[in-house]
Order: sequence, then C-alpha cells, then structure tokens
Amino acid sequence: MENKKYILYWMQESQRSLYNSGLESAVAKSQELKKPLLVFFYLVPDYPEANKRHFYFMLQGLQDVKKNLQKRKIEFRLILGKTSTMSDDILNLTKDAAYFIWDKGYLRFQKKMREDLVPLLPCPVMEAESNIIIPIEKVSLKEEYSAATLRKKIDRTIKEYLKPFTYSGIPFIKNEDIIIPNDITEKLSDIDTLISSLGIDCAVEKSPYFNGGEEEALKKLDFFIKEVLDRYEDEHSEPSKDLTSHLSPYLHFGQISPLYIYQKVAETGSSSASAFLEELVVRRELAYNFVYYNENYDKWEGITYPWAYKTLKEHESDPRPYLYSLKELEEFSTHDKYWNAAQKEMVFTGFMNGYMRMYWCKKILEWSPTPEEAYKRTIYLNNKYFLDGRDPSSYAGVAWCFGKHDRAWSERSVFGKIRYMNFQGLERKFNMSAYISRVNKLHQR
Ligand code: FAD
Repeated sequence: MENKKYILYWMQESQRSLYNSGLESAVAKSQELKKPLLVFFYLVPDYPEANKRHFYFMLQGLQDVKKNLQKRKIEFRLILGKTSTMSDDILNLTKDAAYFIWDKGYLRFQKKMREDLVPLLPCPVMEAESNIIIPIEKVSLKEEYSAATLRKKIDRTIKEYLKPFTYSGIPFIKNEDIIIPNDITEKLSDIDTLISSLGIDCAVEKSPYFNGGEEEALKKLDFFIKEVLDRYEDEHSEPSKDLTSHLSPYLHFGQISPLYIYQKVAETGSSSASAFLEELVVRRELAYNFVYYNENYDKWEGITYPWAYKTLKEHESDPRPYLYSLKELEEFSTHDKYWNAAQKEMVFTGFMNGYMRMYWCKKILEWSPTPEEAYKRTIYLNNKYFLDGRDPSSYAGVAWCFGKHDRAWSERSVFGKIRYMNFQGLERKFNMSAYISRVNKLHQR
C-alpha cells in the first residue's frame, strides 16, 4: 500500500461532477487512505458504432468535467486508447493504485470487460451505479416481462434510494505530477482538432441543436421544469409541440444524474410529475433490466417473445404494399411525409420525438422485406444518428416495436399480432402539418 501512488476512478457511465456516487466514493477513499485521487476517462476513437456526432457531444461533456473537477482540486486525465488495448491499458494504470473505482457497465462488452479484469486487478475494486436510480440487482434478479412487473418492484424499493445526495469534499491532496501514458488531457480544449486527429468516423456531423455537458443538461432540466413540465402529461406525445425534456442524450452519456432529475421534478409537486417519472424510472430502468439480463438484447433471435416471433413468421410472406431499401429510408425518400419528417428530424438534429420514434420503427417493419431485416435497419439508423443511440433504451425501444414488453393485439397483415400504427392515426391525434413545419424549420437553420 505504501508504494501505491493514487486512488483511481475510471469515469465511464457517469461523465459528470455532480451527483456522481463513484466520484464521491473515490474522494472519500482518497481522504481515508491519504493518497491523491486520479480520475480518468479512456477515450476510444474506434468505439463500436460511435461517430463524430457522438464524440463531439461527449467531449463537450468532458470539458465540463475537467473544469468542474479542477474547482474541487481533483485531477482529471483524458487517456487516448483503442478497443483492442483497453483492458491492458486500464490494468497498467491499476498497478499504481491503492484502490480502484469504476462505473458499472450494462451492455455486453462493458460487462465482459469488467468480468475479465476483476481476477487480474492488483488492488481492491469498487463498482458504482450512479446512472440509474435503483441498482440493477436490487430491484430484480431476472429479466422482467413488462413495465407492470418491474413497476411493482420499483415501487417497493425506490424510497431507499431517494435520499439526499452527499458530497465528500476535496481529495486528500491534488497531485499534478502523476505521469501516465497517452495522456491527451491538454487536447480537450480544442475538440475540432482533436476529432480530426483521431481518425474518428465522420459520417455524421455534430448536432447543431444539442451541445453536450452537464451545464447544458442542467439548463435543459431547468427549462423543462419551468416551461414544460405542467403540460407534459397531456401533451408530450404531440410531435408538433416537442414538450418533453430532451434529456435522453445527457442521460445516455451520464452528463446528468437520473436521481437529481427525479428529486428536482418530484419537488415541484406538478400534476405531470408522475407521468414524467414513469418514463424516467420505470421505462428507462426496464431498458437497463432488459440489456443486463438478456445476453441477446441486440440479436434478432433474442429481442422478443415466442408469440411475437411466431406471428411475424406466419405473416412473413404477406404482400407488402411498399418496400424500401435502407438507402431510401436513410434519405427520407418514402411515400409517407410524416415518416420522412421524422427521419429528417433524426438525421439533422440527432433526436426525434418519442411518439414518432414508435411510428418510425413500426413503418420500417412494414416496409422491409423481412422482420429481421427491419430490426437490423432500425438499430443501424437509431445508433448512427441519435445522440442517445447505443443506449439500453435504444435496444428496448426498438424491441418494443417487435412486441417486447407489449401484448398481442388483433391480427392483421404483415404485423400479425404485433401492435400496429398508421398514418391516419397520426392525423387523427395530432397536428401533423405543424410537425412537418417544425421539422422543416429545423432543417433550414
Ligand atoms: P422524456 O419524455 O422527457 O422522458 C424523460 C426520460 O425518460 C428520457 O430522457 C429517457 O431517458 C426516459 N424515457 C422516456 N421514454 C422512454 C422509453 N420509452 N423507454 C425508455 N426510457 C424512456 N431512448 C434513448 O435514450 N435512446 C434511444 O436510442 C432510443 N431509441 C428508441 C427507439 C424507439 C423505436 C423507441 C420506440 C423508443 C426509443 N427510445 C430511446 C425511448 C424514448 O423514445 C426516448 O428516451 C425519449 O423519446 C427521449 O426524449 P426525452 O428525453 O425528451 O424524453
């Protein structure tokens, strides 16, 4: 222990300085063991499915992290790495660590990497779960069937996790002299140059509508609470009004804490609070439950229920009035003006209204040669363009359109018993011409 240089915190899921229990545990360990604290982020330019849009947003967030940790005398380092060397590089850093803290990962490769690392670590390790409200295994030990079955369990456990958050102060000592390989922290000040020097996939430009970072996330939450929340319950599905929080990209990168959002929204006493918290807690944590307990959460064979596969199979050779290629979909060239508008919203902004996400995915199922091909196309587009893509909610959201967490409905062509959505339904419920105008304005900006 004497010769160990620091306490090490690997920030990955919770990329923020506020309401981050991994970070606070690391500060407390630094005080207890009287060692400096080193917080690092391991940047992987070849990270699966990530492109410039995602990196730009994430690096903006890491700029905030660096600045805010500086104020608390916490040393933050950005380390340049590769997928293939990630485990070895992290293991090397732990050689000088008296104690190691990491954020829990829920997706397959995140879980696998941690499982592989544990037996090799030369120091004690602690896992923090700060990016969901209830630790995954505390609420349920199995894959839940639906929101209803998870909701009951959440209702029983959530109180325990809604306590006020406590900060640990400042670490034992700030030590700026720690030298670590591939340290590119200084380059964080110029994101454009950093991105162009890393060989990152630039197929998708940064979003002109979303800036990353915890300060932006807090502004979005504040605006939502003051201007939108009271109308959320009745109007959040209306695509033309856009009355939702827009917090999903920030939640995806851990730039804001779901617990913090929960507490701020709950204390308003707004009549819409419970409708919003149902999405933030039950729907979001159902998605985490899905990817954590279902090894095949992103493989066609594993995403939905036997009844859903059966009914889709029975209708696989039904005539499809419209069939589009992936290119036609990606370039919003279908006959359906509302679908095209949704696809444009996604491509230009990195976001899409929640109700339109359902319609968007259902139509890809209807217009693709097979359900399996439809699934692959949807995941591809979802993860390529959405800032909040590659998230547990991406896999659960798309799986829902294929029957997961849903029930059987009356049988019809192509969909079988899978829930159907149609053009006329949109027109009946919403002001769709106003949605098209909203998207066109976004596009022109
Ligand atoms: P709000 O309505 O303000 O809700 C607050 C938060 O609750 C959201 O930020 C989100 O974290 C959570 N939430 C809301 N709705 C859901 C839901 N249905 N499932 C899980 N969590 C939810 N969400 C993503 O984060 N990433 C995705 O890639 C993604 N892809 C989807 C694809 C399809 C086909 C569908 C049907 C849904 C998808 N969702 C995805 C879920 C949901 O549509 C978005 O989380 C939501 O629209 C984000 O907007 P918001 O932050 O303004 O949400």
